[in-house]
Amino acid sequence: MNSTTKAKSISLKEYGITSEKVSYQLSPDELHRITIEKGMGKAASSGALAVNTGEFTGRSPMDRFIVKDARTEDKIWWGDINIPFEPEAFDKLYDKVTAYLGDKEVFVRDSYVCADPAYKMNIRVINEYPWSNLFAYNMFLRPTEEELQGFDPEWVVVNAPGFMADAQIDGTRQHNFAILNFTKKIALVGGTGYTGEIKKGIFSALNFILPVDKNTLPMHCSANYGVNGDTAIFFGLSGTGKTTLSADANRKLIGDDEHGWTSENSIFNFEGGCYAKVIDLSAEKEPEIYGAIKKGAILENVIMDDKGVVDFADTSITQNTRVSYPIHHIENIMKPSYGDNPKNIFFLTADAFGVLPPISRLTPAQAAYHFISGYTAKVAGTEAGVVEPQPSFSACFGAPFMPLHPTKYAEMLSAKMKEAGVNVWLVNTGWTGGPYGVGKRMELKYTRAMINAAMNGDLGLYTYDDYHIHSVFGVAQPRSCPGVPDEVLSPRATWKDDAAYYKTAFKLTNAFRENFKKFEAFANEEIRRGGPQRYGF
Ligand code: ATP
Ligand code: MN
Repeated sequence: MNSTTKAKSISLKEYGITSEKVSYQLSPDELHRITIEKGMGKAASSGALAVNTGEFTGRSPMDRFIVKDARTEDKIWWGDINIPFEPEAFDKLYDKVTAYLGDKEVFVRDSYVCADPAYKMNIRVINEYPWSNLFAYNMFLRPTEEELQGFDPEWVVVNAPGFMADAQIDGTRQHNFAILNFTKKIALVGGTGYTGEIKKGIFSALNFILPVDKNTLPMHCSANYGVNGDTAIFFGLSGTGKTTLSADANRKLIGDDEHGWTSENSIFNFEGGCYAKVIDLSAEKEPEIYGAIKKGAILENVIMDDKGVVDFADTSITQNTRVSYPIHHIENIMKPSYGDNPKNIFFLTADAFGVLPPISRLTPAQAAYHFISGYTAKVAGTEAGVVEPQPSFSACFGAPFMPLHPTKYAEMLSAKMKEAGVNVWLVNTGWTGGPYGVGKRMELKYTRAMINAAMNGDLGLYTYDDYHIHSVFGVAQPRSCPGVPDEVLSPRATWKDDAAYYKTAFKLTNAFRENFKKFEAFANEEIRRGGPQRYGF
């Protein structure tokens, strides 16, 4: 790695930022060093930089806005997810944020998103903090020296964690905000140091731009590529295993979170890095991710001892402890980060009710139904001694990042799946043997074995001999799978009590039906029949 980058500076006057000290395109080593010098971070024993993101250790979806103007007015699915923001209020707040940055040292990073050259979009990230700028280096794609000559940024991210909005005056909900302006091509993030806002801000922008302007389907999924030239993609909400399961020593990683599926039969990564959860991380269970935590990586909100050794089990700051690193910290990667049409699609769900099969095969209609539903479950806190999982539905497995109506993405996905003749699997990476509190989390080695079997064609033919149709969910459950005990494949068999199993399954069924009501008018008969087959009481 070259750490001899000469200190460069650029003027930010065109953005209304008058800072005298503008540190442009610093190397990761320099940003690591400066962060520690400023007392904003510490080196972990692994060499990674450890920081605390402050008040926010996760995204704040209720503070995510989109400027409503001629470009967006008729296209965005406005509501609780895509909250409108007045253009004039945006301009005023932007001026305040840039004035705030004016008397500070700022860090600028030029980078781009979309690994396929035909879709490349240049972005400039302007940060108040050096470690946030290192995050941008890690997560976005890194231009070559040549590409930096005459670099023309299309989108700009202005990121001021120390700036606090005044909700009364600024039109925000509270002091933090993440606002997208599609006309001005600006993502304005303030009052929060959580780095995920930067990454998901640009993701949300692409989720509008790609389908609207480029006929490309944006997806909240990870992707990898096998020796047989087969691409696999993994959709799922937070914590369901996209990052974990895509990091597989035997397959080349394409990307861990955000991809586009083009009309030219290819899929490409939007990003240049990974952002992995590190709760309970171990070298034994997740060697690829563990090995990626070295100099250059940023650990967020972890607890270390005085030797810099991280205790990954310590969640005293947050359960959402994270690490970001450039994708080349993973050994087996696809270069550049794109591949052919997927052969297999996995919908990951962490079913805390413990009733969905650990793997099942979906018909095209079921696939559409589950994509629109976007089910996972949240495990409730143990406060009052009550441990009831909460079903959580998020359309397209990523509703908070989808500016358009979910059916727009669902229609594109259905068409592409049919065209590509892809196999679709529903994978429960959540609970087995009972719900959260009674059963336990599915063993990672079993989930990996099931996914490998699906990809290798080892789950047999789509016939009665090989599959059992689940009596409640209607999905096809394989009867056997190499490396996995037969009884693990049947959720009912892992429960002690049949009646309790069905009661819980029906409870989940009802939640699915209730949630689907808002999409019923948009779904055809075939898709509606893709839902659970038997209904609860
Ligand atoms: P995000 O969208 O927030 O990045 P993600 O889908 O990438 O979320 P992961 O970071 O992969 O989710 O998190 C999955 C977590 O669940 C990891 O901490 C992993 O160790 C744990 N886990 C436990 N059992 C399993 C399993 N059977 N399959 C997948 N993950 C599992
Ligand atoms: Mn992830």
